[in-house]
Amino acid sequence: MPEINASKVSRWDGHGREHVVRVRRTGVQRTISCDTCGWRQGAQFLPWLKAQEHLAQAHQATVDPTEGRDPH
Ligand SMILES: [Zn+2]
Repeated sequence: MPEINASKVSRWDGHGREHVVRVRRTGVQRTISCDTCGWRQGAQFLPWLKAQEHLAQAHQATVDPTEGRDPH
């Protein structure tokens, strides 16, 4: 189940490092900023999608830590 109201998106890269993009609401706009490289962008729609795109393209971080979690 996607976290529609999540204020951040985190992904792991192939080296097991976590990269986090934060989503901040500023009026109707949302600002997304990357903890790893300082990248920022305004996004009115689907900020989480843009965050995921950035993580995948800039950091090759595509592993969602909240998916496929080990049951034990
Ligand atoms: Zn980044």
